[in-house]
Amino acid sequence: NFSIQLENSSNDELGELADSIQSLANELNHLKTERNEFLASISHELRTPLTYIKGYADVAKKDHISMTDRVNYLNIITEEVTKLTTLVTELMELAQLDNNTFTIQKQWFPICDSLKKISTIILPSFQESGITLRMICPENYQILADPIRFEQILINLLDNARKYSPRGTITTVKVKKENADIKISIQDEGKGIPSKDLPFIFERFYRIDKSRSRELGGTGLGLSIVKELVDAHHWKIEIASEINKGSTITITAR
Ligand code: ADP
Repeated sequence: NFSIQLENSSNDELGELADSIQSLANELNHLKTERNEFLASISHELRTPLTYIKGYADVAKKDHISMTDRVNYLNIITEEVTKLTTLVTELMELAQLDNNTFTIQKQWFPICDSLKKISTIILPSFQESGITLRMICPENYQILADPIRFEQILINLLDNARKYSPRGTITTVKVKKENADIKISIQDEGKGIPSKDLPFIFERFYRIDKSRSRELGGTGLGLSIVKELVDAHHWKIEIASEINKGSTITITAR
């Protein structure tokens, strides 16, 4: 632990210096704790799929196992490898964001065209989940954004809307203008987010229901990446949510 102690003599300047150094030391301690917690989470998140892979590979090798069971085990192994791949990809993404080695390349483009492309990508998974995807986007609205990052933000948010909503519900994406701003909202009719969790929802690895998220292929990193990408555009993101009614995530772009 870092700690600084200076004699606070009658000298005001020395006192101020001591205070500044102490607050720097506190900040460093805080960063160190955060880094340790992050590393512990990563280790845990990596270990879980590895444990499954090892376990099922061991059983699949046994002589008495039927072909059907073996195929089932191999399928589980494939799923776990997919989860690991997603996790590693997202961690690399975060590392880039932290390092500032990534750049936002903004350009003007028609927002509806981009949303149409996004819906083509995401529609099959919505259909499979029995959720209707509705898009309300007045033609000819232009947005100044990095088109690839914009897609990434929307896909992440839509994927959450799908993952945390029951069959038979509707997810609505709405684009509207408010003065110079463009507001994009993603509204689902899903399980909602308890208000006590809302302040932490953008934190890395924060998940309300860990096992449910994991089952759905979630890593707990999606929203933290979204937040960083939104910040990099100097946009704003807000969440309004009601338990068992649904959530609305609104991005304000300008
Ligand atoms: P994950 O990979 O687990 O989905 P995210 O960072 O995208 O991680 O989201 C963090 C957590 O926030 C999720 O695990 C889930 O509990 C909650 N969450 C995110 N989006 C929604 C939503 N639209 N409806 C309900 N809960 C949500």
